This record gives sequence, C-alpha cells and structure tokens, in this order.
Amino acid sequence: MLIQVVYLMENQDNIHKLEHELEKARSQFYIFYELTQAMRTTLRLEEIAYIILTGLTAHHGLGFNRAVLFLVDERKENINGFMGIGPMDTSEANPIWKAIEKNKMDLYSLIQNYHSIKKDPQKPKFIEFVQTLQFPLTAESGIMYETIHEVAPLHIDITSEAGKKYAYDPIVTKLSLKEFVIAPLWSSGNPLGIILVDNCVTQKSITEENRKILAMFINQAAGAIENSKIFENTLFKAHTDSLTNLWNYGYFQYKLDEELMRAKNNGAKISVVMVDIDDFKKFNDAYGHQNGDDALKLLAKLLKENARKIDVIARYGGEEFTLILPHTNREEAVIIAERIRQAVESSEICNSRLTVSIGIASFDEDAKDKEELIRKADIALYRAKREGKNRIILA
Ligand code: GH3
Ligand code: MG
Ligand code: MG
Repeated sequence: MLIQVVYLMENQDNIHKLEHELEKARSQFYIFYELTQAMRTTLRLEEIAYIILTGLTAHHGLGFNRAVLFLVDERKENINGFMGIGPMDTSEANPIWKAIEKNKMDLYSLIQNYHSIKKDPQKPKFIEFVQTLQFPLTAESGIMYETIHEVAPLHIDITSEAGKKYAYDPIVTKLSLKEFVIAPLWSSGNPLGIILVDNCVTQKSITEENRKILAMFINQAAGAIENSKIFENTLFKAHTDSLTNLWNYGYFQYKLDEELMRAKNNGAKISVVMVDIDDFKKFNDAYGHQNGDDALKLLAKLLKENARKIDVIARYGGEEFTLILPHTNREEAVIIAERIRQAVESSEICNSRLTVSIGIASFDEDAKDKEELIRKADIALYRAKREGKNRIILA
C-alpha cells in the first residue's frame, strides 16, 4: 500500500515536471514566432535591435539577464556597443524585470515601449553604458575579435579550466562577465556584429537547450539587422544632397513636421533659420560654376561647424540653406545665426569674400504651423536682402 502511494506520488511529480517543460517550450515557441513577426513590422535598426534584445531577456522568452548587441562600423575598423538590455548592477534589476513583465510583448507595444524608454530621463543606465563600448577589430580586443571570425556561438565560463584564460579579457572585465554566450552575427558572408548574453543577476547556468534556441534566434536576427541596415542606408542616400552632403529639401520638410509634433506635445520652442548667399549669381559669373560649387560646399562646412549637434541642416535648393533648431527660441536662434553670418563673412573663397542674409522665425512665437513658420522665415530673409544684405532679420 505504502509503496503504491509513493509510486503514485512520484508519477504525479513527473507529470507536473513534464507539464511545466511543455508549458515552457510552448511559450518559447510563441515568443519566437512573435519576435519573428515583430521583426517584419519595422525596418528601423534601432527598433529591430530592441525587439531582438527584448526577446533574449524577457521572462517568457529566453530569459537571459542581460543581452548586448555590438555592430561593426562602416569602415570595418571597430565594433561598437549599439544597444544593451539588462541591469547595470543588481539594484537596477528588479524595476527592469517588472517593466518587461508588464509589457505584454505584442508587436506594437514592444516597439512603443522602446520609444518610451528612450524618452525617459531615467532610462536604464545600461543602455547608455553599452553605447560607450568600442573595440578595435584587432587581436588586442580579445574575445570580441575572435568571435567576429567564428561561425558558431562561443559558450565561455571563466571559472572553468577552459575559460579561465579569458579572466582579464577586455569585454569580460568591462561587463564583469562570468558565464556567457558570445555569438557572431553573419549575413551574406559578412560579419555584422556580435550578440552577448549572460545571467549576471540570477547566476543561472546556460543550458544546452538555451544555446540551441539562441543559435536559431541569432540567425533570424542577423537577417533582420542586415535588411534594416540596407534600408537605412538607402533612406539616408535618398535624403542627402549630393553636392554638399547636407539633408535635402524633402528631409527638411519631413523633419520639421516631426520636430513640430514633438514641440507641440511638450511645449518646446523651435526656430527655423533661412540662409541665402548674397549676390551669388555675380560670384558664379566672376569665378565660374565649378568655383561656385566649391563655395556651396564650403558654406555647408561652415554651417556644420557653427550649428549644434541637435540642429538639422539642409540645402533648401540652389544657394539657399535652412536650419531647424530644436528647443531654441528667437533670441537663442539669433546667436547661432550671428555665428554663421560672421563665419561666412570672414572666410575666403577664391580670393574673394561672400556674405549671407538670414531670416528667422520661431514656433510658437511667430507661427503655429509648418507652412506659416517657413513663410515667416522666408519673408524675414527677403527683408534682410532689401535692407542691404549680410544681415539677420527676425520675423
Ligand atoms: P541675392 O543676393 O538677391 O540672393 O542674389 P543672388 O545672385 O544670390 O540670387 P539669384 O537668385 O539671383 O541667383 C542665385 C544664383 O545661384 C543663380 C545660380 O547660378 C546660383 N546657383 C544655384 N544653384 C547653384 C549650384 O548648384 N551651383 C552653382 N555654382 N551655382 C548655383
Ligand atoms: Mg542669393
Ligand atoms: Mg536664392
């Protein structure tokens, strides 16, 4: 009788275990499917990266504590930290897990969630830390360099006999790694980057089953990353002016719409600056079209040097340029415009001097929408011409 009861209890135990395993496998397949679908909804590299890293770290998915994506740069000189999900240290772990669990992991909320994290002034420190990581593609970068030439993921445990030679490896010390999987991302025969995962908080060991699913997932991820890189590159080229390498008219319009929408949402100011070269026709007549083109390139360089990193600089057409200055009111815009005006006035082109006239209009002081903003800046520019050129006029 007693033996029968023990037998029954053991059987019950096994059934529970099996049920649990089945449930786990089902939810992993589910997330795998969801993620593959999610990767098809966007071609933006940032969003793709976020989907991949969430899949690797979310509880219902592979459930790693940390996942980091590194990408090889255009010149194939460095591999840079692109995005990371996970706690910077254990104290940061809990709020992050909660946020991940709260997010139901459907396609759209996943991407939405990324955008809200990005805007959050208290965004996880790990995201920012990862972006400071850079490794040259030379042997001194240790495992990072080795991995990029591997075909399959490497499973390393620095506390093991085989792994202890990596104890002082650059990436191991930077991320305080113990046991981790580091995997190369290959697409069409090119190394694109690296994905690294570990369980820094729970210290759970990485099973063979985990590694198999990871390898499958990484193949999918590499394809998605390559597609989005091609897409972003095409987008970039389509929006760039080929002579000056500044943004073109189309991108300026798109960007101004976007910036205005953002400013309306958070009550910020935006200024638009229109810059037109004075008497450029005469310059062309005197020095020829080729020198005229060089003058336009030089002006583009001066605009870049005297604007800020957040400003959007575009060639509006011909010898006319525009700048979008986010979070900038009229007075602040004048300071930047004056810097530009002086820089142009004091530089020499073909042993000659050029000047520019500038018109400025601001949202929401001068205009409430895009069309009005451009029109007011244009009118101000026209006045600057009429009042003698080489000057700045505010709408
Ligand atoms: P204003 O001071 O009133 O602006 O006079 P302007 O001569 O600069 O203006 P206008 O609109 O009469 O002439 C613009 C000139 O800019 C005419 C055109 O030859 C020149 N231009 C426009 N695009 C290019 C370009 O891509 N390369 C060169 N070299 N010149 C260009
Ligand atoms: Mg002109
Ligand atoms: Mg003009």
